[in-house]
Amino acid sequence: MSARAATRAGAEVLLLDKRRELGVPVQCGEALAEEPLLDLGIKPNPRWIAGEVNAVRLISPSGLEVSIAEKKAVHGKVGFILDRKVFDKHLAMLAAKEGADVMVGTLVDGLLMDGKKIAGVKASSFDGRMEVRAKVVIAADGVVSRVARWAGVNTTLKLVDIESCAQFQMVGIDIKSPEVMEYYFGSKITPGGYAWVFPKGRDMANVGIGILSSRMQRPAIDYLKDFVNSMPGLKKGRVIEINGGGVPVGGPIPKTFKDNLLIVGDAARQVNALTGGGIDSAMRAGNIAGEVAAKAVASGDVSEKKLKEYEKRWREQMGKRFKRYLKAKEVLLSMSDEELDRLAKALQGVEFEKISLTDMLKVFMKVSPKLMWKLKGLM
Ligand SMILES: Cc1cc2nc3c(=O)[nH]c(=O)nc-3n(C[C@H](O)[C@H](O)[C@H](O)COP(=O)(O)OP(=O)(O)OC[C@H]3O[C@@H](n4cnc5c(N)ncnc54)[C@H](O)[C@@H]3O)c2cc1C
Repeated sequence: MSARAATRAGAEVLLLDKRRELGVPVQCGEALAEEPLLDLGIKPNPRWIAGEVNAVRLISPSGLEVSIAEKKAVHGKVGFILDRKVFDKHLAMLAAKEGADVMVGTLVDGLLMDGKKIAGVKASSFDGRMEVRAKVVIAADGVVSRVARWAGVNTTLKLVDIESCAQFQMVGIDIKSPEVMEYYFGSKITPGGYAWVFPKGRDMANVGIGILSSRMQRPAIDYLKDFVNSMPGLKKGRVIEINGGGVPVGGPIPKTFKDNLLIVGDAARQVNALTGGGIDSAMRAGNIAGEVAAKAVASGDVSEKKLKEYEKRWREQMGKRFKRYLKAKEVLLSMSDEELDRLAKALQGVEFEKISLTDMLKVFMKVSPKLMWKLKGLM
């Protein structure tokens, strides 16, 4: 997204990625709302949409279900389960079509410095070693960004700020409703996280689990196996892909710009701390970073004074939301299985689009005055 935006704004851009095939391996549940695509002018394309979803079902520790039918967005759909193996390539293609140069299979292994100033990157590919001079480097290199670390930014994650995820792509399973994403909660299934079933059609889904690393007793994949075995509709299926990874859920890093450098996406921890979703924010922030970088290059001033516009813009757009998600995550982590069950019971049958804030507070009050107090900051 940065490469596309910067090229569009007139900059000369080189996009480097260590992967030989962009999007592979998948390390993602692949759920994305339609809104960011529309906002960013990307036309949904059946080539990278594996499923369309319009509702969410939350399942409490004792199996109580709460359904949230999302309000219908433009075109009557609210979200997609992507095929990121195609989607990530599609984004690179959009950048290339604008005129960006793309080099895959190219590992960035250091920053090129002019004294203390970042002057580009060092990399290696099939063609050997190379040095690329750049006025601005955009570090979009994912969780625990090495590029940001080389620039002196502390990217170490504490165990309480990282969800360890494992995921199976499964076939031959029972999907109750292909248009509904399911989230399962409970300390036995997944301590400090949730399990998900994101359908990709009638008998296929991404089935995954995210666990707060500080609460894990075993590897995430063991919890995932237990979850699948506890669900007859999943147990009968076959695993055709295993993947996983870490999700930063402690909120964005405090500063995402420096002289000649911008930090974007998971590298900047621009992730919804509650759901672990980061595609939307990475795309939006990436777009802003590209625009700001190109403007700075054109003006001849790529100092942090000029580049801080990036942080101002993304925080204006998403900063408040990130804080709310972080708070919501903390509330969720503080809830016992019994409280989650009581909450689910109170929310059953609630029409979320119609309920007023006061009525919602009454529901929480009924569940537990303590819970209402915890939720106060979110309202
Ligand atoms: C199991 C799991 C499930 C998830 N499910 C969802 C979901 O359903 N919905 C959602 O919105 N989010 C989800 N996420 C989070 C989402 O995947 C990330 O937030 C998103 O991919 C971030 O995009 P990014 O471009 O910042 O980083 P990435 O997608 O990680 O891309 C980073 C890129 O940088 C490249 N790179 C890294 N280091 C170097 C280097 N040194 N040199 C060259 N290239 C380099 C990598 O090859 C990669 O292509 C999930 C994450 C996990 C782990």
